[in-house]
Amino acid sequence: MRLLVIEDEVRLLRNLAKALREEGYAVDTAADGEEGLYKAQNSDYDAIVLDVMLPGLDGWQVLARLRKTRKTPVLFLTARDTTADRIRGLDGGGDDYLVKPFDLSELFARLRALIRRAADRPSPEIALGEVKIDTRARTVSVGGQPVPLTAKEYMILEYLAHHRGKVITRTELYEHVFDERADTMSNLLDVHVYNLRKKLACDLIVTRRGLGYCIEE
Ligand code: CA
Repeated sequence: MRLLVIEDEVRLLRNLAKALREEGYAVDTAADGEEGLYKAQNSDYDAIVLDVMLPGLDGWQVLARLRKTRKTPVLFLTARDTTADRIRGLDGGGDDYLVKPFDLSELFARLRALIRRAADRPSPEIALGEVKIDTRARTVSVGGQPVPLTAKEYMILEYLAHHRGKVITRTELYEHVFDERADTMSNLLDVHVYNLRKKLACDLIVTRRGLGYCIEE
């Protein structure tokens, strides 16, 4: 899952990106509205964390312009908890909001919920035959036995599981698992998939030659 965080407070931006990466997300960052809007319009993010108070183009303007072309889930961050702000954000096409200061655990939970909703998968638990994925705890088990995965392996599995029934191209998968800091070592993706399959020890992830990867419904 790849996120974009748009926030002009440099320390908060850095801390958010670090915390989200530790959760396993690929995270791109933008320190102002213009840069954030550009990235949001040009990449397919799973969710965007958008600060409202930004110099230049503010969060409301970023959201309004983004909604002309993209439906990417947006969680906006407001400095004050006023009803008017919340209504404005939600009416403007925002999907959720958090009031600063907030707990990271709440941000994580809200992002997980946004991503599930966007994929039209309301349940936090995904059962695929013997394989069970708990998206809250980020744990995976096969036949009741826990299978420890790396953050990247987990993200690959969760992305394919959220989009099960669809063939996901290697490019799409790469873009949702790695962020702008990653080297373009595309064969690394195959290594993660190879290791993931070995750990799951079942043929859950199907390769469609020349097309990509797929988990069947
Ligand atoms: Ca701000």
